[in-house]
Amino acid sequence: MSSPNADTPLDPAALRADFPILSQTIGDAPLVYLDSGATSQKPRAVVDAEVDFLLRANSAVHRGAHTLAAEATELYEDARATVAGFVGADEETLVWTAGATASLNLVAYAIGNATAGRGGAASAALALRAGDEIVVTEIEHHANLIPWQELAARTGAVLRHIPVHDDGTLDLDAAATLIGERTRVVAFPHVSNVLGIVNPVAELVALARAVGAVTVLDACQSVPNLPVDFAALGVDLAAFSGHKMLGPYGIGGLYGRREILDALPVFLTGGSMVTTVTQDEAEFLPAPQKFEAGTQPVSQTIGLAAAARYLDALGMDAVRDHERAIERRTMAALREIPGVRLLGDASGVDRVGIAAFDVAGVHAHDVGQFLDARGIAVRVGHHCAKPLHARFGLTASVRASASVFTTESDVDALIDALGDVRAYFGVDA
Ligand code: PLP
Repeated sequence: MSSPNADTPLDPAALRADFPILSQTIGDAPLVYLDSGATSQKPRAVVDAEVDFLLRANSAVHRGAHTLAAEATELYEDARATVAGFVGADEETLVWTAGATASLNLVAYAIGNATAGRGGAASAALALRAGDEIVVTEIEHHANLIPWQELAARTGAVLRHIPVHDDGTLDLDAAATLIGERTRVVAFPHVSNVLGIVNPVAELVALARAVGAVTVLDACQSVPNLPVDFAALGVDLAAFSGHKMLGPYGIGGLYGRREILDALPVFLTGGSMVTTVTQDEAEFLPAPQKFEAGTQPVSQTIGLAAAARYLDALGMDAVRDHERAIERRTMAALREIPGVRLLGDASGVDRVGIAAFDVAGVHAHDVGQFLDARGIAVRVGHHCAKPLHARFGLTASVRASASVFTTESDVDALIDALGDVRAYFGVDA
């Protein structure tokens, strides 16, 4: 790795050597990758860790008495310890999942199973009754919205939404009114994948705790970009994805406070998560294994641990400072371009390097194609946050998002191109 000291500021230009994909051109233009919010690029250390496992130690874990099985199991559980340490969890409180979507569905379906009477006395406290309330926000990614819509439909619970101000900050006064004695679950994003604003976790956790509601944090866009300690944040449950934090696809995590994971009934069932099984019933292992049915994505856990080590070596304080610097440069320049409207233009708030915007008179997809012709990769569309776009009177926006390898010249290339886009499409400035 090129920048191994957590105390030194991050040098994105030097880090680029670790990401071979970034050295290519798109047409004649050097690739400017500003789509890490969708999925980050992977450093060679992550790919090498996966390949090394597959070529040298590949075997199924927690079964089999042979040497390879033992080595794979050790690597797999070491990976859990590494990633748990990275997010402020311990090994028993980190469940491997296929990613944030899988984690959030696991929680919603498990609460549904508690409602159906599964899981015994401890689970009964998590059960929903008709008229109970699940509180989310208006800024959710669909992955932290639809599972709760479905749970509400199955249980008769009511879904309520904390509104967002025009500047992209959450309306905490409204939250204080909405979260009340019928509230059983409060689910919200640490960082919106559209607005990039870091939400006030402590305030929302305090409101939820005061009424005994379970908190569920969607940490998909915070874990790659900020130091995150779930235990210190005080949330009950939290979800994140490996592929957004320099890691592999198909792996992510669900953090849960031990008492909550113990109380949640199982969701997916099958091999590897049981103590005993008869023809009629089964007993389950404790968490995390009770949520890890079936053959596990072992190489991906090892790749994800390599990603966590890579970020840890950079220092997450340095990563956050870099994100802030990129975000400030981007937002300041975007504000100066005629016809560009930022979604969530609040000033004086903590942010990561995500900026979404609308270009007056030019469809987001046209902007995306125009930028692509200059080698610049951004996300266009609703970014799986359709209701949030509707709230801002849009069907689509353009989103630029940074990572550890994003340089000031990447930002400048974006800003230069955007300066030309309206003229290219014949829209008056
Ligand atoms: N939540 C947020 C805030 C996201 O940005 C994403 C992905 O874009 C998700 C959840 C879903 O993550 P995944 O698709 O990796 O399951």
